[in-house]
Amino acid sequence: MSHRHMTEEEDVLPDYDTDIDEVHPNQESADIRALKIPSTSIATVHESGFGEFLLKAELQRAISDCGFEHPSTVQHECIPAAILGRDLLCQAKSGMGKTAVFVLSTLNLMEKEEGKHITALVLTHTRELAYQILEEFNRFTKYLTHIKAKVVYGGVPVTHDKKELAEPPQVLIGTPGRVLHLVNEGIVNFKFVKHFILDECDQMLEQLDMRNDVQKIFKNTPHNKQVMMFSATLSDDVRGVCKRFMHNPQEVYINDQAKLTLDGLQQYYVNLAESQKNRKLVNLLDSLEFNQVVIFVSTVDRAKALNSLLESEKFPSICTYGRMDQDQRIEKYKTFKKFGSRIMVATNLFGRGVDFERVNVVFN
Ligand code: AMP
Repeated sequence: MSHRHMTEEEDVLPDYDTDIDEVHPNQESADIRALKIPSTSIATVHESGFGEFLLKAELQRAISDCGFEHPSTVQHECIPAAILGRDLLCQAKSGMGKTAVFVLSTLNLMEKEEGKHITALVLTHTRELAYQILEEFNRFTKYLTHIKAKVVYGGVPVTHDKKELAEPPQVLIGTPGRVLHLVNEGIVNFKFVKHFILDECDQMLEQLDMRNDVQKIFKNTPHNKQVMMFSATLSDDVRGVCKRFMHNPQEVYINDQAKLTLDGLQQYYVNLAESQKNRKLVNLLDSLEFNQVVIFVSTVDRAKALNSLLESEKFPSICTYGRMDQDQRIEKYKTFKKFGSRIMVATNLFGRGVDFERVNVVFN
């Protein structure tokens, strides 16, 4: 458990040259497992089953309902420490099962008599990812019906959240801006928080305004709590910042940080003039045998225009972007996740952490 006491001087943002004992992931340390595993994601599983973690029976049942047979490497490495309430800093690529680490461990530690207080707070940088985390909590609370999880994010009227949170859930997931707003308005109370979790923490801690929000939220939580942070990438700088929120964390680094590409992933590029791009894309979509495709574009206008073009060419395409109405944005996410459309044109909302398991081709 963390016993971090933030002092007055720490009201300012943490700076980078802290006095924390920096330990490089590649250095030998009892606490650090710098594992180099093939990143064929979830397929890298352990012989042992989930039974070894001695989780609650209700969780074991939900795990087997989800069809999870063996823990993935990140789960194998992190869950034992996490279920003891230890602080955790974990870097592992998307798709390796990081979400289940904090979902299972917090649910396992949650006690029945904790009642109607927010005891676990999860922050992440995008609304889609927040929603995806909610779904993971919902899956695993199938037999823990007294535990509720709720999600909050911008783009939705605050009055809606106020109504929803009149009965506080034990788990609150949200984006930093909205969560801070709700704290400032006195709509949520974090006095009972025991687990403070940042998913894709670098995305929040690298952006000064978001980091500021995260820090203010953190200060509204009790000193004694478990802090867990996860990220697909973690620079030395951000790692230092993360550790300022923690007390003697277990550090787990899966995969060589310098390696930016996933094994098994093939990348191609074509040099094209702007005017040739649409035609080439349509030709590729015609000739490639894809399951689901995501096409990333840089602007909202381009997303709309490309989606219209694809629709006019009779491709099953939908699009999503930041300025879209929030309900619609989640609706698009759900449609695509459920295979309701084969092609998604998106601005970088889905760039990190969001898991569409059927996608096998991505255009940038
Ligand atoms: P994540 O990296 O947390 O986004 O997880 C990626 C996907 O893998 C999600 O759809 C999870 O439900 C799934 N998953 C996580 N852990 C396991 C496991 N041990 N066995 C099978 N699937 C898993």
